[in-house]
Amino acid sequence: MTDEGPLEVCVELLVAGWTTHPGFVARRGAGRRPVRFPALVAAVRHPDGVVLYDTGYAPRVQRAVRRGIDRVYGALLPVHVEPEQAVVRQLAERGIAPEDVTAVVLSHLHADHLGGLRDLPRARVVVDPSAIAAMRSARGLGRLVRGWLPALLPSDLEARLIDPASLPLAAGSGADLAPLAPGRDLTGDGAVVVVPLPGHSDEHLGLLVRARGREVLLLGDAVWDLRAVTDGELPHPVVRLITRDWRGYRATIDDLAALARRRSDLLLLPSHDEAAVERARGLLEP
Ligand SMILES: [Zn+2]
Repeated sequence: MTDEGPLEVCVELLVAGWTTHPGFVARRGAGRRPVRFPALVAAVRHPDGVVLYDTGYAPRVQRAVRRGIDRVYGALLPVHVEPEQAVVRQLAERGIAPEDVTAVVLSHLHADHLGGLRDLPRARVVVDPSAIAAMRSARGLGRLVRGWLPALLPSDLEARLIDPASLPLAAGSGADLAPLAPGRDLTGDGAVVVVPLPGHSDEHLGLLVRARGREVLLLGDAVWDLRAVTDGELPHPVVRLITRDWRGYRATIDDLAALARRRSDLLLLPSHDEAAVERARGLLEP
């Protein structure tokens, strides 16, 4: 194993649909012009199986937001996804069957991250079980405000959950994430490490992957535009309304900025920053 990670581990970046927001949602100075938010899925090929970070949108999300109070969700966050963009279809094109996916790490439980999970019936799922319980029992406006669509959860999910807190603390580079808390080792070899990045939601997780030739920290929705970390360009304050814990969110961004200054070797990648995703593709899939 080299410092850059095991030779046999690699990361492929898929985009499973997209939504739009006014530019200022991701970056205060960006104005009202709509910006595309890709629904990123990272597929990590590891000798023990394929690990996914998030599952993107799928056509079932479009169906879910046509019903009852969830129509508000669909109006605020239009879901754009073609059947062939569903993660299960994109994996098939790469020769990966649903049963090859041994684990899914969910950054959090919003529909653009959860939508494809029901297509992966064999995968263990890494997410805080208390967040799943809260989502199952939420009702009405409270559920809408949290951005939760429980119809996206597999019925047998509880039997497949892995509580991230139950995983062993990572050694090596997965432990070298200060001032972030050390990560938790999912694969037992330090190659795939779950990293708490709270604020956007309580259960929010990042994923560190020591891939062939490059180490990447997938940020999920900890930031929407990478410039929040690199240049302090934060979202418009209106984003407080849809952020679970604003102080925690800001603290996570400060910690990521400090980490980025200390470890310039580390590639940081938010889920919804289209330019950052394109740059990362060039670095991860030469
Ligand atoms: Zn998101």
